[in-house]
Amino acid sequence: MITKLSLCCGPLLLSLCLYSGAWSQLPAASPNSPPDHRYKADILLVVAHPDDDSLAAPYLAKAIYEEHKHVSVIYGTRGDAGGNAVGNEQAASLGAVREIEGRRALASMGILDVWFLDAPDTPGQDVLHSLETWGHGASLEKVVRLVRLTRPEVILTWLPVYVAGENHDDHQAAGVLATEAFDLAGDPVAFPEQLAAPRDRTSIGNYGEGLRPWQAKKIYYFSDATHFEFLEGRGPQYKTSDVSPSKGVSYATIATNAWMSDKSQLPPNQTDLKKYLDQYLSEPVRFVLGKSLVNGSTTGDIFEGIVPGSIAYVRAHGYEPAVRENLSIELGGPWAYYREFWRAHKLEHLSQLLSPETALGGPENTVWVPLLIHNDTDAARQVTLQAVLPPGWTEKPGPMIYTVGAHDAYPVQVNLVADSSQKSSWQKITWTADADGHSIGSLTLRVHVNYNGVPQ
Ligand SMILES: [Zn+2]
Repeated sequence: MITKLSLCCGPLLLSLCLYSGAWSQLPAASPNSPPDHRYKADILLVVAHPDDDSLAAPYLAKAIYEEHKHVSVIYGTRGDAGGNAVGNEQAASLGAVREIEGRRALASMGILDVWFLDAPDTPGQDVLHSLETWGHGASLEKVVRLVRLTRPEVILTWLPVYVAGENHDDHQAAGVLATEAFDLAGDPVAFPEQLAAPRDRTSIGNYGEGLRPWQAKKIYYFSDATHFEFLEGRGPQYKTSDVSPSKGVSYATIATNAWMSDKSQLPPNQTDLKKYLDQYLSEPVRFVLGKSLVNGSTTGDIFEGIVPGSIAYVRAHGYEPAVRENLSIELGGPWAYYREFWRAHKLEHLSQLLSPETALGGPENTVWVPLLIHNDTDAARQVTLQAVLPPGWTEKPGPMIYTVGAHDAYPVQVNLVADSSQKSSWQKITWTADADGHSIGSLTLRVHVNYNGVPQ
């Protein structure tokens, strides 16, 4: 439309107004496709093996049936390295069996959105082992993709801490990847190819994945430790004996019914099975609040403070070198990694959960302990390391002098054998380190003299 104003103005404005008139007659672009709402999750559970979901299942049942939450699941592996209580199927065939067992268990609670990272089941206790065999980078890329696709409000996963218990390295790897993905999925520089818009989504051969960045609001952890006191007050707990108003049975019953699909992992004998289930389901589901980007208390309900809609990306702290001077010692391997990991992801409070601990690393009462001797001086230095062992224990190597290069760290691998008469007790080992006749530090590791069936 040509306005009165333009009629009494000069030729330039008149031509602009004519263009303006032309714009109103242009066709409207089709609306941008929103994210696929079918996959929008309230809860994304990131675990390692089919049946890992059973630990959180009583809470998931409550969230699904009473709160109508949409739950999606990522399994890191198909559990292809376990034993088989049903038949001879092993390795890849066992993985094929367990994939369906896991899908059936989850489907019984209405969970249908289930993905596998295709990582190899890696029995062990050192998270660095699983991160190596899983292909850390490729697996992280997949988890970030699925966070962006499912846009969860909350991520639930295994605790990324070394604990005395099953302490499965695959569980810990799932916790590490879920934490990293929590911090990366909202970052458009991370895996940007997942965010590029396809040139023509209705055509073939597109390369942009067309996802959007997503910042989840909270991340919670649960643990496979054999002791629970350190979890008290760290997050919400849900009683498994509570009865579901909509189903008329306990959440433990719903979880048990789901768990029955995981037959290859359950004791075939009914008496043993009952004992096994009673042991797990007599405990509440205990969560540790990892971090929350919304209001709410540590022990409040998982959805406390969560309102619909997206929130802005929150940058994690990121890695910063620890300040160290002169000579020092610390526990190495997974313990050293976690110290840096927690700081980089603003999870320092996880370092307060436990003093360093382990259970036995093998059926022969063995314990592996990696130590690091740091030399942050400008010259090579000699450090004497010796251990104070519980009675009846042996170690290899024994007391020794290590030459540590300037600005280097010497990785010491200690192998211990516990006294089997101390079974199920807690024992302490202390290492002291000296240089030039002066102490440079000491450290203590407590050991639960118990083997849980997973090698260190
Ligand atoms: Zn597992």
